[in-house]
Amino acid sequence: MKTIGAHVSASGGVKNAPENAKAIGADAFALFTKNQRQWKSAPLSEEDIAAFKKNCAGQFAPEQILPHDSYLINLGHPEADALKKSRDAFLDEMKRCEQLGLDRLNFHPGSHLKKCTEDECIATIAESINLVLAETTGVSAVIENTAGQGSNMGYRFEQIAAMIEQVEDQSRVGVCIDTCHSFTSGYDLRTPEACKETFDRFGDIIGFDYLMGMHLNDSKKDLGTRVDRHHSLGEGFIGLDCFRYIMADERFNNIPLILETPNPAIWADEIKLLRSFE
Ligand SMILES: [Zn+2]
Ligand SMILES: [Zn+2]
Repeated sequence: MKTIGAHVSASGGVKNAPENAKAIGADAFALFTKNQRQWKSAPLSEEDIAAFKKNCAGQFAPEQILPHDSYLINLGHPEADALKKSRDAFLDEMKRCEQLGLDRLNFHPGSHLKKCTEDECIATIAESINLVLAETTGVSAVIENTAGQGSNMGYRFEQIAAMIEQVEDQSRVGVCIDTCHSFTSGYDLRTPEACKETFDRFGDIIGFDYLMGMHLNDSKKDLGTRVDRHHSLGEGFIGLDCFRYIMADERFNNIPLILETPNPAIWADEIKLLRSFE
C-alpha cells in the first residue's frame, strides 16, 4: 500500500504536524523537529513528546513519518570545527527522533565546499553517520539524493552507494529519492521507459531494500541542470507520467511518499491526484 503526505508545518510545536497532515487527507507526513534555520532549539518537553504521540496514535506509524534535518547541517564539512558543529547538531536531531518514537531521519548528505575531493567528502559523511549511529538506537540515517547544486554530494547513485558501503551498521542507513533532485541531477523521469531505467538503475546500484522514503516533486528546472527548484505535480519539466509510474509500482509501497511542492494550498488535491493513479 502507498502512504502519501507532505512536509507539513510544525509551527507551534511538533504536535501540530500530525494535525496538519490529517487536514490535507494525508496518511504520511514529513516535519522538522526543531527550527530548521537555527543551530540550537529548546529540547522537546515531556508534554511535547506526549502530545505528538497522542496525535499520531492510530493514524501515523513511524514508517509513515519522515522527519527532515536542519538545512544548516553539513556532515561532509571539510573543516574540523564546522564538521563537529554539524555532527553535534545531527546527533541532537537523531535523539529528538528517538524521543518522539520515530525510526528514520532524512538528511542531505553534505558538501565539500571545493576544499576536499568528492571521495574525501563521501568518507567524511560516512564517518559522521557511523559516529551518530553509535550514540543512538532505533533511528536510521536516511540519505537523500541531491540535485548536485553547488558542491552538494549525493547527486549520483554511486556516491550514495559509496557512503552506505562505508557505514558499519548498514541496518540503520537508508535512502530517500527526491524526484526533482534525481531529474535535475541527470536521471530522466519524463516517460514510463525513462522511469523504469532510472529506478532499475537505483535498484542495481543502491538497492530498494535501502529505500525508506520518497520526495515527490516536479521540477522548475530541466534535466541535468543541477539546480534544486521544486514545482507542483504536473506543472514542471518532469510531468505526471513519473508520478503515475511511482503510484503503480510496488517498489514504492509502505514508505512515506512526501510532497515538498511549493503550493501548500493544493497539497490535498495533489494527494487526491496521486491516489487516483493507484
Ligand atoms: Zn527533498
Ligand atoms: Zn529539493
